[in-house]
Amino acid sequence: MVFRLHKEESACVMETEAAFVLLKNVSKVFNGKVEAVSRISLNVEQGEFFSLLGPSGCGKSTILRIIAGLEAPDSGEVIIGGSPVAGSRWIPPEKRGVGLVFQDYALFPHMTIFDNIAFGLKGCGRKESNRRVEEMLEIVGLAGMAKRYPHELSGGQQQRVALARALAPFPKVMLLDEPFSNLDADLRVELRTETKQILKGKGITTILVTHDQEEAFSLSDRIGVLNHGRLEQVGTPSEIYHKPVSRFTAGFVGKADFIGGRIQNGALISDAGVFRCPECVSLEERDVDIMIRPDDVDFAPDEGGDALISDVQFLGPEVSYRLELRNGMAVHSIKPSTIVYAAGKRVKIYVDPTHIIVFPKEV
Ligand code: ATP
Repeated sequence: MVFRLHKEESACVMETEAAFVLLKNVSKVFNGKVEAVSRISLNVEQGEFFSLLGPSGCGKSTILRIIAGLEAPDSGEVIIGGSPVAGSRWIPPEKRGVGLVFQDYALFPHMTIFDNIAFGLKGCGRKESNRRVEEMLEIVGLAGMAKRYPHELSGGQQQRVALARALAPFPKVMLLDEPFSNLDADLRVELRTETKQILKGKGITTILVTHDQEEAFSLSDRIGVLNHGRLEQVGTPSEIYHKPVSRFTAGFVGKADFIGGRIQNGALISDAGVFRCPECVSLEERDVDIMIRPDDVDFAPDEGGDALISDVQFLGPEVSYRLELRNGMAVHSIKPSTIVYAAGKRVKIYVDPTHIIVFPKEV
């Protein structure tokens, strides 16, 4: 479903269809030397929930600010719903049809919740504005709190108001800059699930900026992994996790162990075992590094096994084991905590060969 206005409301908002967002070769350098964004090209589809994921300082917020029009790119073009908004021409932020929600809510402290949400509806008549604010309060679960001031609400409630305020003008695109990171763990999970339901339910194209891999995985249709202003990889959460194209992505999204190996006669020979991984068949004989994730490693007690349990971490539903190989390197294994094996036990390792990723040997 997308927002659609009745005819008599048309003075309120011109365009109400969710829009795709296209970035073509966008770059931004600060102070002549900090290359915050480097030749980013990206297509976020209409109605898609897309996350920009990366460590602090990798350029996530700058990309969002460029899409919003709060920052101008040095080169490249930004297109929203087919219309250029930066590059070949400049459309100011208030005319781009984007909603923005920040980490710090940024509510007006001297205004009631009602007036905060109504703030972006100045073009609407009073009747339509009031109706829309009531609808937004209902959507974010704050009906009845209209007369309160921001300081009379909890952090989670204030963030809901920020979302309602951004939703009220029926944006074509919603931009979320770490909106959940100030909230405690339970509330964060609850609010992000609600937020996704609301935005997906309304069919709004959404771009979320986050450094939290779990948050990106749980919310996104696709993720763009950023490193030093460059897009390392774009893909579904499963592609990013199971088929990382770089060591950076492999290490940033989830735990990954790298161990040495050699491709020989189409097989992968390593200290963790010999594997017939599908991609090894077509590779020439050479030394490689292989990436293995803990959830792809299983083991069984075996006195003649090649690994030793060197550390055991009980995590509640799961146990994380460090398995030391004969050459001193280690891989990790995650297993349900219904059985817990003790450190010091010798084991035989089993790895799912379809999930092994081969990288050129790092020298
Ligand atoms: P965080 O997760 O910590 O918010 P980020 O990935 O969003 O980081 P940005 O805020 O986009 O990163 O910053 C990217 C780089 O550009 C950083 O090195 C930052 O210091 C620099 N930067 C951002 N804004 C400016 C500015 N206005 N002037 C100078 N440098 C800036």
